[in-house]
Amino acid sequence: AQKTVGFIGLGTMGREMALNLMRAGFAVRAYDVRREAIDDLAAQGATPAASVADAAGSADIAITMLPDTPHVEETVYGEGGLLASPPAGRLIVDMSTISPVAVRRMSADLRSVGVDFLDAPVSGGPIGAKKATLSIMVGGDADAFGRAEPFFRGMGTTVTHVGESGAGQAVKLCNQLVCGLNIQAICEAIALGRASGVDLDQLRKVLLGGSAASWMLENLGPAMIAGDSAAGFRIDLMLKDLRLVQEQALSLAVPLPGISLVTNQYLEARAHGEGVNGNQALFRVYDRMTNQ
Ligand code: NAD
Repeated sequence: AQKTVGFIGLGTMGREMALNLMRAGFAVRAYDVRREAIDDLAAQGATPAASVADAAGSADIAITMLPDTPHVEETVYGEGGLLASPPAGRLIVDMSTISPVAVRRMSADLRSVGVDFLDAPVSGGPIGAKKATLSIMVGGDADAFGRAEPFFRGMGTTVTHVGESGAGQAVKLCNQLVCGLNIQAICEAIALGRASGVDLDQLRKVLLGGSAASWMLENLGPAMIAGDSAAGFRIDLMLKDLRLVQEQALSLAVPLPGISLVTNQYLEARAHGEGVNGNQALFRVYDRMTNQ
């Protein structure tokens, strides 16, 4: 029989992931606090859900793709939430980037009522979400991972069980640390290239052909050079991730001087109203520092 996913959180990433699950042959019951997001999915074949419980209750698996820890906690612990109304398949997968500490607590609380919870954050951005080429890093019970894997395969190409509950988030925080430092490195290269008077599109192409190539340079470079700030991955969401990186590092007494500097540049960007802009807008910090 066709398996059903209760999908909660149909934003930049969730919308594309839910569409890919349908393309992969799963039925989707779609829920978001924004009515227009539900209507959009319904117009493409999903069943509109009126609440978290309505989306998840009859489903084989509930998937959440929400902004931050409090949104996921509300979906689990809130009135009519997943703890009170778990999916029929007793499997919940959170694919947002949230606190590993919160993940372990939710996992334990759900386990006590016989429900499995996996943390399965993703990397690959809106492009990877759309193409179903995400890298999905999963923490939690191995048997639950096996049950969730067919759904993951509908959304990503690199699907890896990385350890116990919270391990998916721990790996994702390492991923975000590299992304943050990498975006900063590209900003600095473009700032120096600009001051040196070299052609920036050419600079980008040359770097992509050598050992300085990166996903960020390839995908965010053009918007950075053009001064296009339209969001894909918002500055505010990256700041949330940088806070999680710092919390994890402090709790384990791991010095991360590089990411401290990057975090302060993101704070500067947000203070200038860039929070809703895409990460490429970090370059505006360099504009200001050079009075451009
Ligand atoms: P988004 O803000 O575009 O989407 C979040 C969606 O959740 C919105 O549609 C919002 O209306 C909905 N929502 C909020 N609270 C809700 C609730 N209580 N119940 C139901 N729906 C609710 O965010 P996004 O860019 O899709 O990112 C989602 C998560 O994935 C974040 O944790 C982010 O850090 C992570 N992520 C994002 C990217 C990216 O490139 N955008 C890449 C990898 C991971």
